[in-house]
Amino acid sequence: MKYLSTRDRTLRIGGAEAVKLGLSRDGGLLTPEAIPQIDGAFLEGLTGASYPERAAKVMALYLTDYSEEELLEFARNAYGPDKYDHPAAAPLWKVDGSTHCLELWHGPTSAFKDMALQMLPQLLSAALRKTGEDKTACILVATSGDTGKAAMEGFADVAQTNIMVFYPKDGVSAVQEAQMVTQEGDNVGVCAVVGNFDDAQAGVKRIFSDEAIRKTLADRGYFLSSANSINWGRILPQVVYYISAYCDLLRDGEIRMGDKVNFCVPTGNFGDILAAYYAWRMGLPVGKLICASNQNDVLTDFLRTGVYDKNRPFHTTMSPSMDILVSSNLERLLFDLSGENDAEVRGYMESLNGSGRYEVSGSIKKALAERFWGGFLDEAGTMETIARYYKDCGYLIDTHTAVAAGVLEQYRRATGDRTPTVFVSTASPYKFCGHVLRAVGQEPKGDGVELLDQLNAVSGVAVPRRLAALKGKARRFDLTCEKAGMDNVVLDFLK
Ligand SMILES: *Cc1c(COP(=O)(O)O)cnc(C)c1O
Repeated sequence: MKYLSTRDRTLRIGGAEAVKLGLSRDGGLLTPEAIPQIDGAFLEGLTGASYPERAAKVMALYLTDYSEEELLEFARNAYGPDKYDHPAAAPLWKVDGSTHCLELWHGPTSAFKDMALQMLPQLLSAALRKTGEDKTACILVATSGDTGKAAMEGFADVAQTNIMVFYPKDGVSAVQEAQMVTQEGDNVGVCAVVGNFDDAQAGVKRIFSDEAIRKTLADRGYFLSSANSINWGRILPQVVYYISAYCDLLRDGEIRMGDKVNFCVPTGNFGDILAAYYAWRMGLPVGKLICASNQNDVLTDFLRTGVYDKNRPFHTTMSPSMDILVSSNLERLLFDLSGENDAEVRGYMESLNGSGRYEVSGSIKKALAERFWGGFLDEAGTMETIARYYKDCGYLIDTHTAVAAGVLEQYRRATGDRTPTVFVSTASPYKFCGHVLRAVGQEPKGDGVELLDQLNAVSGVAVPRRLAALKGKARRFDLTCEKAGMDNVVLDFLK
């Protein structure tokens, strides 16, 4: 299987190379040249398999320059008992006869980013070997919270890699900061930037495009790489859990082979829901893909009108990982829906860069309406949904998951569709203790890791062990820099 660019369909590179590059040089996203097809027999075969076995079988269809044994070893490392607190890695929780919640937060950092970021470092490390690369990859990450920690945890002590994370000084939760500054590993670094997330992100982009820094680093034996969700190595491991959820529903007798299932996904950069789309394109029986946004409802409008327009206020919400106005992975969807028309995609992206908006063709609008439904939930709705789930089911959900659960209710009211539906749970409620406590009617006492115990006393649900361990953990990093000082932090880190 080769990979091409959404902005140049004549490009052909191997899977390992695509993982190593992250982004195509023309600015496009690297995308498989064909979508492998699966059938009932393939799904039957996976139904009795473990999560790592399912992951290896699915990923082998796309990464043909890795062996299935190799992928199985990576998946066992990624999703095994050292890393995942649940033997199923991505278990379903049954809400009622037609509603299931896919819990993706049993990994080391309690957010769904682990599902991909426990695999990507191993895929990258192997890619360096496969492509004969002798330099060390230095991963630069700007994070608003979840990605930075998950990436550090994934890359810690992985051969031939280093990772440096920048986060906005006052822009992450107390638990998120504690998670990052206590990270172990000899190849990790983290620094707070005086400014907001955009400042940190702009700084990282500037370093990436600075030829002088690249040259200095190359002389020292490093090249810069990225772990954000435009890397194919992050999308592919996410395709696995949609197929796995279908197999679990089959195994548990909730559906019969061939029955359609809807997925409802809380969405920011459009990576997670894009993976669900690929699962459908592979032949998984999927009905609707329900795209759930918070108050930043640019995708809701897009799916309803075919006009993508980022010219609107940016809202800081209690589901910060979805506070995004430019959803980068949408480009892969447009490429597929346009019949792989790279010129058309280039046109949309140029228009987005210029005026901040574009309108898709009539045929893309039609295809979007067939497969997707978009909705958004405001802050009050998010709180109400957490409270309702707690009261009616005794089940605690985090703010991001609540957006999905609430939008699913809107969808059912609007359409009357009762197809069995899986909504995706992307973070443990313990990552957002303050909001969750307030939602269930408690006044938070403090704002740091002490809230873990308070939420535990209210809910009786066990605190994930690594979050509980944060309390006694020594701070390893205490670095702060100004925006303009980020370059020097990187150069010091890679001495
Ligand atoms: C990243 C993230 C999302 C959004 O996922 P995308 O792939 O960016 O759409 C949702 N919830 C949580 C908790 C996240 O960390």
